[in-house]
Amino acid sequence: MLKIWISALLLLTLQANAQNDEVVEDSSWKSNYRSFASKENDLVHTKLVANFNYAKSQMNGEVWLKLHPHFYPTNKLTLDAKGMDIHEVSMLSNKSNKTLKYNYDGLLLNIELDKTYKSTENYTVYIKYTAKPNDYKANGSEAITDAKGLYFINPLGTDTTKPTQIWTQGETEGTSVWIPIIDKPNQKCTQEFHLNVPNKYVSLSNGLLVKQIDNKNGTRLDIWKMDQPHSPYLFFIGIGDYAIIKDEVASANDGNATGADGKAIANNGKRKIEVSYYIEKAYAKEAQKIYGKTPAMISFYEKILGVPYPWVKYAQMSARDYVSGAMENTTCTLHGDAVQQNARELVDGNNWESTIAHELFHQWFGDLVTAESWSNLTVNESFADYSQTLWLEHSKGKDYGEYENFIGQRSYLSSPDAAEKDLVRFYYNDREDMFDLVSYQKGGRILNMLRHYVGDDAFFASLNKYLNDNKFSSGSAIKLKLAFETITGKDLNWFFNQWYFGDGHPYVRINQKYDDAKKQVLVVIQQTQTQDKIFELPVGIDVYAANKKNHYDVWSKNRVDSFYFPAPVNPDNVNVDNAKILLWEKDETKPLSQYIFQYKHATNFIDRLEALDQAAENMKDPAALSLIKSALKDTFYVIRQKAIQSFNPAALPKEIEAEIVNLITKDPSNFVREAAIDAIGALEKTKYKSLFEQLTQNESYLVAGAALDALEKIDSLTAIKIATINSNTVIKKRLNTAVTKILTKYGDENVFEFVAAKFEALSIQSEEKFYMTMPFASLLIKTSDETKFKKGINLIVAFRNAIPEGYKTQTDPYFNMQILGTILKAKKQKGEDNLVKIVSAALPKM
Ligand SMILES: [Zn+2]
Repeated sequence: MLKIWISALLLLTLQANAQNDEVVEDSSWKSNYRSFASKENDLVHTKLVANFNYAKSQMNGEVWLKLHPHFYPTNKLTLDAKGMDIHEVSMLSNKSNKTLKYNYDGLLLNIELDKTYKSTENYTVYIKYTAKPNDYKANGSEAITDAKGLYFINPLGTDTTKPTQIWTQGETEGTSVWIPIIDKPNQKCTQEFHLNVPNKYVSLSNGLLVKQIDNKNGTRLDIWKMDQPHSPYLFFIGIGDYAIIKDEVASANDGNATGADGKAIANNGKRKIEVSYYIEKAYAKEAQKIYGKTPAMISFYEKILGVPYPWVKYAQMSARDYVSGAMENTTCTLHGDAVQQNARELVDGNNWESTIAHELFHQWFGDLVTAESWSNLTVNESFADYSQTLWLEHSKGKDYGEYENFIGQRSYLSSPDAAEKDLVRFYYNDREDMFDLVSYQKGGRILNMLRHYVGDDAFFASLNKYLNDNKFSSGSAIKLKLAFETITGKDLNWFFNQWYFGDGHPYVRINQKYDDAKKQVLVVIQQTQTQDKIFELPVGIDVYAANKKNHYDVWSKNRVDSFYFPAPVNPDNVNVDNAKILLWEKDETKPLSQYIFQYKHATNFIDRLEALDQAAENMKDPAALSLIKSALKDTFYVIRQKAIQSFNPAALPKEIEAEIVNLITKDPSNFVREAAIDAIGALEKTKYKSLFEQLTQNESYLVAGAALDALEKIDSLTAIKIATINSNTVIKKRLNTAVTKILTKYGDENVFEFVAAKFEALSIQSEEKFYMTMPFASLLIKTSDETKFKKGINLIVAFRNAIPEGYKTQTDPYFNMQILGTILKAKKQKGEDNLVKIVSAALPKM
């Protein structure tokens, strides 16, 4: 699973916290031990017959569950079944079904079997029921968040702004809202779903569509079969009006791969695996641009893992009003509708490529081998997170991989709460809390360190062993450790204890001193974390002196470690953690001259970035300025972008101005062009007016949006004209933000409807919606019409309330203080008492 707007959330949280010092620390999670679910019965097979009641947003189901006792004989079966009406429970037998006694409390269905069964005896229980996901939400007792499991979107077709869809979200334990099942990740079974769907729609589920029968009543029976076992949270149903774009991949699966039962994986010995994209018809033209790299990703992951793609097909679908970013249901990933990007958005690159890679990698790490419990979520999510780095490194180059890794590292380090939590965590309040920066970003960086420590060959051989040893079964950090120790022959207790079963990360101070008499350089690494523990860190150090580079591998294991390296002259650079892989926060003291040398001789992106940062702080030094000039021509777009952003527009040297203007038109990256327009725009020089005006027509939303912002600073009338024309077309991203900003700044209440409609239409996963909240609030400050004002406040409140529970503690202060609080203050000043009442009512009672 991927919660896609985490970066926007983080940014907002940081802003909100800066204003709100009284952040209460919640440590209640430390007292709740979470064991894995004990297994009394094992699922073997699930057969479902489903009829969907669109009028009531309900599902009428019949399910046949084949099970057997796990080890100890038993005459009891407990199923998770949330908020259902249970009509019948019986034991399937050759003659006639035997009705079984049960009791049901709305969450658990406790069934008395007809006799005591042994672990070698299979039995099949039949249950007839009605799933009522909307009622379940309304009941919403417990701390169970808004997990409805089964979602009916616009079921009556009354909303003209969105299509009618049905989709499911199983993770973490939502499947049991629509099937009575043992809804635990350490259960696995095969399945057969008989879905009765309206003829006008297509359906998607796990495995293969084996049969379609016309029911002759406007509906059709679609039978989906999944012959390989997987966990209930990965069950999926999606129904709607989609174009299906078919692709394929020549999988390494030659029919020799076997399932848990020892039988060959059913792909009929063929090497072709169907890859398909279920996309709303309006976006069908863009399907290849959005999803088209999937076959190449499958081939790449198969190659590095040495494990063929494990399943019979791979489909991807998009959902309206999706509650997560994306979800790796076995053989059929579901994405939020933000994946559906239009042609203009795609000019700036496919925003969703990393997510597509992430969900695909889960087909191995998560679906083939599944975390035994949410405590061990790392063996699903840290791998999926790290797969984004692996894919970018492979497909776009080393800089892209390192940049992805760097962003992940920075996200984790920017959250003080995250440092307190172990990666494998047996204590948490809500299982949803496990889906955090520790399981994802920190875990991904830990894998990067592990890969670097054992080497690429050993790393991938260990992953191969872990997957093969545990396929179609459960995984855990312990099993991962065993696989790595078996392959490498190295004891890895220290690594796993420190990074998987411990919290925090090191803070280090790094100093160096050259001793001319002894011809050696002293490097001191001091661990300064306030935590009791000292980290064991393998540190690679490159010493550059007299035109030679010498590499040393040392260990930092004490509070203070001193290392002496020979150097005939004072080194040109001492590069500590030369590969830039350690997850630490450092305070390093070294002269600017070394950073300048480092930029020129860097072997990786972060080396150059660090050097650029140092140069930017020493801009008055001609050598620093010259470094930044080189950085404007760097091969990697992020460095060029940051080089532009390092200048203070008020003090931009003439020749640099010319170079940045050149980048506006010539740079191959729209991100760099956007940064260049921002930098030149800040000069507010009328001579650039025609350039900016022309660029507002650029296909790229980034370029056009930045140009419109720049134009507004020098010719607001033309900018308003262009913004108004644009407001009648489909615009997104930076251009949308620029248009909204101009319309709300110069416009009157007449622009309200346009802006409100835009705001309402944006999905809560889009960062755009977050960024639009502030200009929308400015418009509400101007709005005196009570009806419009009320509608606007309601839209902001709806957005605030739609944030999933686990994130509200972070986002509520932003909405309540920064957004609603600002509006309230302004309305009080204006003396608009009726509007003050409206906004006060939207704020929580103190
Ligand atoms: Zn994931």
